[in-house]
Amino acid sequence: MIQAKELTEKLEMFACMQCGKCSAGCPESGKSGLNIRRIIRELTVSPLCELKQTDPLWDCTSCSACTLRCPRGLQPHELIIGLRGALIETGEIPVTARDSLEAVFKHGNPWGRAKQKREEWTEGLAIKNLSDSQAEILYYVCCAAAYDPRVQNVARSLAGIFNESGSDFGILGIEESCCGSETRRMGEAGLFEMIVEDNMKLFNSRGVKHIVATSPHCFDALKNKYNAEAITVQHYTQYVAGLLDGGKLSLTKNLDKIVAYHDPCYLGKQNDIYDEPREILKAIPGINYLEFDRRREKSLCCEGGGGRMWLEGTNTGERLAETRVKDAAEMGVDIIATACPFCLLTLEDAVKITGFEEKILIKDISELIVEAL
Ligand code: SF4
Ligand code: SF4
Repeated sequence: MIQAKELTEKLEMFACMQCGKCSAGCPESGKSGLNIRRIIRELTVSPLCELKQTDPLWDCTSCSACTLRCPRGLQPHELIIGLRGALIETGEIPVTARDSLEAVFKHGNPWGRAKQKREEWTEGLAIKNLSDSQAEILYYVCCAAAYDPRVQNVARSLAGIFNESGSDFGILGIEESCCGSETRRMGEAGLFEMIVEDNMKLFNSRGVKHIVATSPHCFDALKNKYNAEAITVQHYTQYVAGLLDGGKLSLTKNLDKIVAYHDPCYLGKQNDIYDEPREILKAIPGINYLEFDRRREKSLCCEGGGGRMWLEGTNTGERLAETRVKDAAEMGVDIIATACPFCLLTLEDAVKITGFEEKILIKDISELIVEAL
């Protein structure tokens, strides 16, 4: 049980007019016990109230659809992050979430994998390491792309694209550590501050001025939560769209596939990056590009954000990634393209669960670019 008066004041939740646009747009509302409008009401009507039903707070995917829709300009998703923080302080945290936070603290990644293995994905590739070389761009790999065998192919694809375009880039290798995005979203503000401090020291010691990130989650944290004004931070789709515009990459092979793009929440809804991924896909020869009905600001969340990669959630119904795959099947899509490691993993699980494994492929945009080079 938590008390949240200060939090509701700080986030100006007393300005809420209970219109319900936040909960109406919430992907978890109705599927789980999460009702953000009701939470705000409970906290504001009775400011000293103790929020009794706290489990649904862990269902939030931190997609920020609520914040995007609020006519009062409030940030309900930040309220949930703050409430999670209060829960953590009282020790009320699901065990899998606690384990992932401990793993970030001890090993610099939420899976608890060995730091020494962080650059295994580079085997056989010519990539500068900023510990002994200089480069214009730091390619910030991401824990998922460094360790997960499926997502490692995204890191390898991006390194290939950067090399092909003559980009001067390097990585931090085993010195790279978690960006802390999901640590913050799970409510562990103190650990996030430590992560930012350590990462900023490392970036400054390596003279980093420009970061290109694999993951929208790393991109969002580095760009919006690090106060690193002297560093330009881009998601890779922004950087690669620039390479295409500048004639530094040419896509020549015909892919001859029907492709639809799934907007990652941390890239689209939270950072307004909708066009660059589409520009890249449309530049690939032979692709028949289709749009999902639920796209851009109204895109369906994959349920991988806000720490949900390490949380089961209370919802037992169909996962949104499964709904996405079924939508794609109805459209006759061959490939769902995305640009986020978590979307890639949740959608791949969903094609297996829904039985569309033989019909629909899930690809990161970087993988499609490499196929078209
Ligand atoms: S959309 Fe904004 S004003 Fe409306 S209920 Fe939600 S928080 Fe309150
Ligand atoms: S961030 Fe997304 S999942 Fe969380 S309350 Fe808002 S709309 Fe719902």
